Amino acid sequence: MDRTLNICEKFYKTKNISYDDFLYLMKLEEEDAEKLYKFARDLTIKNFENKIYIRGLIEISTYCKNNCFYCGLRNANEKVSRVRLSKDDILNLAEHSVDLGIKTIVLQGGEDDFYTLDYLKKIIEGIKNKFEDTAITLSLGERDFSDFEELKNIGADRYLLRHETYSKSHYEKLHPNSMSFKNRIDSIFKLKEIGFQTGCGMMIGSPFQTYDNLYDDLNFILELKPQMVGLGPFIPHKDTPFRNYKRGNLSDVLKILSIVRISDEKILLPATTALGSIYEFGRENGILAGANVLMPNVGAKKLRKNYKLYDNKIGTEVENSDDFKGLEEKLKKIGYEISPYRGDYR
Ligand code: SAH
Ligand code: SF4
Repeated sequence: MDRTLNICEKFYKTKNISYDDFLYLMKLEEEDAEKLYKFARDLTIKNFENKIYIRGLIEISTYCKNNCFYCGLRNANEKVSRVRLSKDDILNLAEHSVDLGIKTIVLQGGEDDFYTLDYLKKIIEGIKNKFEDTAITLSLGERDFSDFEELKNIGADRYLLRHETYSKSHYEKLHPNSMSFKNRIDSIFKLKEIGFQTGCGMMIGSPFQTYDNLYDDLNFILELKPQMVGLGPFIPHKDTPFRNYKRGNLSDVLKILSIVRISDEKILLPATTALGSIYEFGRENGILAGANVLMPNVGAKKLRKNYKLYDNKIGTEVENSDDFKGLEEKLKKIGYEISPYRGDYR
């Protein structure tokens, strides 16, 4: 049998892949890489048919107390306008998303102390009281473990906290000393233990990243068994220390997407905005490599303009939900449809 298919088959069956085999997949030329993408895509179709889950992304704050070296929202960046949404703003946007037929709302933002536990609880209660069936995903960075517990108890369903890298030394090259690799990883295990549908993930092609790092990331994913994994290319932002590093490349992202799909055929795997920002058909390619989730921005204009983790982000110039409106058409072109369901991990 063909070596690519052989590796895919063996990894799918054993959930174990040697470093050599991993490297072989990562170094495939396009023609052979297509076999990897197809293997992953077929698994997605087997589990989800041609249906893509939609998550409505609401960016709630461009304030952040952290200083991740890669991110445009880092505290030290004086060029960002700092804006945040109130509870009422968020509830209005949630209503708008529900009207569009969206069944999951993702609240994402910098680490902003304005959102106290009490305030967040009011927001979550507000959404849940009005729209019981709507799933709430939080992506608000690290918080006290007791906060995580209370947020879960009040009704939040999912939490996305990318681990960024499973190598401590690599983590320390991407973050200042004030941030702790151990706390990041402990937080993710905690979220999972509490019962959140949990997402980890990493940027592909972040500065100093090696194939070894990616292999470790994969093994971390195999150990954690998250319900979701967020993967996108690193994209430099001009007002960060990493302004001169090159962005991650498309085929590396697609290969990792496929490999993660093979690691868990039921995992929820978004074709991310960052992927769509490096190449016009990035998200479509992501789906064809095994992704099954899209997270269109349904948020507020004042945030879109300023919520720039990286440069040239798509969906920032549009009026309001236009990023969502074109999706159905885009999906149709590649033979996929929007799923009407909430899309919990099964
Ligand atoms: N503050 C929260 C959520 C917002 S950032 C947190 O950090 O978890 C969400 C993700 O955006 C980060 O986890 C990171 O992986 C990604 N990101 C940040 N800067 C980026 C860049 N320059 N290129 C690509 N992705 C980036
Ligand atoms: Fe803040 Fe998240 Fe950006 Fe880090 S990645 S600076 S925590 S918004």
